[in-house]
Amino acid sequence: MRPSSWQSRIERAAELESEYPAAAEVLRFYQEIAKFQSESEPLSQKSGFLESRMPALIALVGRIGPPALVEAANRPGVESHEPAVAFFTRVLLQVQKGYAAAHSHISMGITRNTCPFCNERPVAAVLRPEGEGGKRGLVCSLCFTEWEFRRLLCPNCGEEDHRKLPVYTASEFPYIRIETCDSCRRYIKSVDLTINGRAIPEVDELAAIPLDLWAVEKDYTKLTPNIFGL
Ligand SMILES: [Zn+2]
Ligand SMILES: [Zn+2]
Repeated sequence: MRPSSWQSRIERAAELESEYPAAAEVLRFYQEIAKFQSESEPLSQKSGFLESRMPALIALVGRIGPPALVEAANRPGVESHEPAVAFFTRVLLQVQKGYAAAHSHISMGITRNTCPFCNERPVAAVLRPEGEGGKRGLVCSLCFTEWEFRRLLCPNCGEEDHRKLPVYTASEFPYIRIETCDSCRRYIKSVDLTINGRAIPEVDELAAIPLDLWAVEKDYTKLTPNIFGL
């Protein structure tokens, strides 16, 4: 499955912004970041890419980011400060690795819980239409490669007893499930494309912040935070 383009992610985020006001602020910021990522893509395979795009990214975030990032972006010598630097670097690495992954042949091989291209962990799960039910995949948090993964298997600890893998849904997001594991107390959001074929997992995941708040209240920890650390 080829990853979505930056343009389709931007368009999807704009749709979700009007549908889910609770996530509007995050989605508006995401659209600006994704536009920057889209514009950066043609340069992404050149040497010195990160260094060359970093000042423009920091300037952009300094104008439109959330308060903590604005403060970091406007501080002299921000390059050496965490965690803002981790965010800036990841924005650019998503472009670089995402482009490389989309233009590589990736051997999917055996079931694995990290990305077969870049070895990062999944930011969301996805269910795609297949036969009677759905085929489960995981989506990389860095390069957005999607790979197949067994339905009843915890992507963190490998638990496969269905009684320890409860799934929760909320009426507000009929196509997004919270897949939890009671053995390791991790969870991942799963975007069900059999119910909503317009969804883009890594974008729709951002809109469903209320589900994260619910999961954290129930003492689950997200398997991998998204680009915004949520
Ligand atoms: Zn990856
Ligand atoms: Zn587990």
